[in-house]
Amino acid sequence: MKKLKVLFAAAEVAPFAKTGGLGEVVGTLPKALKAAGLDVRVILPKYSNIPQQYTEKMNFITSIKVPVGKGRQYCGLLKLEYEGLICYFIDNEFYFKRAGMYGYGDDAERFSFFCRAVLEALPELDFIPNIIHCHDWQTGLISVYLKSFYRSYLPNVRTVFTIHNLKYQGIFPYEVLHDVLGLNEEHFTIDGLEFYGAVNFMKGGFNYADVITTVSPNYAREIMTPEYGEGLHGLLQKRSENLHGILNGLDYNEYDPASDKNIYANYNMKRTAKKKINKSKLQRRLQLPAQKNVPLMAVVSRLVPQKGMYLIEQVWEEILAQEVQLVVLGTGEYYYEQFFKEMAHRYPEQVSVNIKFDGELAHKIYAGADMLIMPSLFEPCGLSQLIALRYGTIPIVRHTGGLVDTIQPFDELNGTGNGFCFTHFDGGKLLKAVKKALTVYQQKQKHAWRRLMKNAMKYDYSWDKSAEKYIQLYNQLGELA
Ligand code: ADP
Repeated sequence: MKKLKVLFAAAEVAPFAKTGGLGEVVGTLPKALKAAGLDVRVILPKYSNIPQQYTEKMNFITSIKVPVGKGRQYCGLLKLEYEGLICYFIDNEFYFKRAGMYGYGDDAERFSFFCRAVLEALPELDFIPNIIHCHDWQTGLISVYLKSFYRSYLPNVRTVFTIHNLKYQGIFPYEVLHDVLGLNEEHFTIDGLEFYGAVNFMKGGFNYADVITTVSPNYAREIMTPEYGEGLHGLLQKRSENLHGILNGLDYNEYDPASDKNIYANYNMKRTAKKKINKSKLQRRLQLPAQKNVPLMAVVSRLVPQKGMYLIEQVWEEILAQEVQLVVLGTGEYYYEQFFKEMAHRYPEQVSVNIKFDGELAHKIYAGADMLIMPSLFEPCGLSQLIALRYGTIPIVRHTGGLVDTIQPFDELNGTGNGFCFTHFDGGKLLKAVKKALTVYQQKQKHAWRRLMKNAMKYDYSWDKSAEKYIQLYNQLGELA
């Protein structure tokens, strides 16, 4: 049987470029698909902040000219084989040699260039995929261009569009349609790219794709409601037969307390005692008192409204009035960064705040903390709670999106469940869940907490099951081609 060929196109792919879950997922899912026998490759922009250890190993394939508006722009194509995965990079220094990845005034031009370049590059790559799997708004125009300009040349290529976060849609003024994107009026309709008089890349992405997926079954249901649909729920309802919620997995090799080189002491589900060493060393590193019986709570997150920072702001004093320590690792909105810094300044014995992106410290926190607080306003899937489970760190979550699919409330009587949950977006409810967690933690007999840790660690959120679901979808699409 012929191998199914899939090209992943995304603006982030770990370890080259990652700001959060998107990069992590696109960095790991291809490996799981490859292990299952597919020929999977990835393509992304060559940003200037890709670490040198990777750029110096890239090979130049060729250069092409890519249409942008009425002209054409240079595009270099590079290739790197990384851990057995073939990765292609789209190079144009004007567009991608900048600090950071997004947030520029010409993002419409930068990412329409990227989308067009992916399609123009295919003949040069010697790889015509059966499926182009596109991720989030930055790749939304791939299926639009494919169906508009490349159909006769690529008649059998199908597209899957995955929504990682519906909040970020890539909305730009109408004026970009002709001059920048090179598209005509025929695409500016309710079933095309039009969104309240503007151009919406994400909408284009799922309107033109053959199949839409999102990153958890519950988020798939939620985004068809006005509360979570970000103005697109009606359209998503219309495409509901083609909308699939497939839970993200975790790279179980990278996140494995039994072999993780970033943590102080390795442990596993059967022997969790060494988790305590991780806790005491982490406390020392964070300059918190090394008190082994005081629960250490963690926040590892973007510091933005989506992550429910507002709820922490509402009840942080009541939380700190308990016998607890808090470690925060995150970056995000200036307001929340200042809020947490102020908190650490006022409670240096109880709170450690680290405003930075630091993968190594994140591992140490997942291994050393007792609980992870994740009171999200909405959460497409969430990886932080999956990592926490893997390290026996108990999530305290708001039950929304993927957090519903992955965290079940602990039931002391039956010994079931893997975390603490609340539903209403309300500080008081968060506080109640925190207090419940503390009560279970502080019981003299530690049976209940040990049970909880075992429950957490025994869940399997590796990619195997989810990769299988993607393969089924690809196969169905392949039959259509
Ligand atoms: P999102 O993609 O919405 O930010 P996820 O929970 O899906 O949220 O993924 C976040 C990922 O980024 C997790 O792996 C988390 O550990 C990591 N992360 C978030 N903030 C930081 C940080 N400041 N330093 C290191 N890793 C971080």
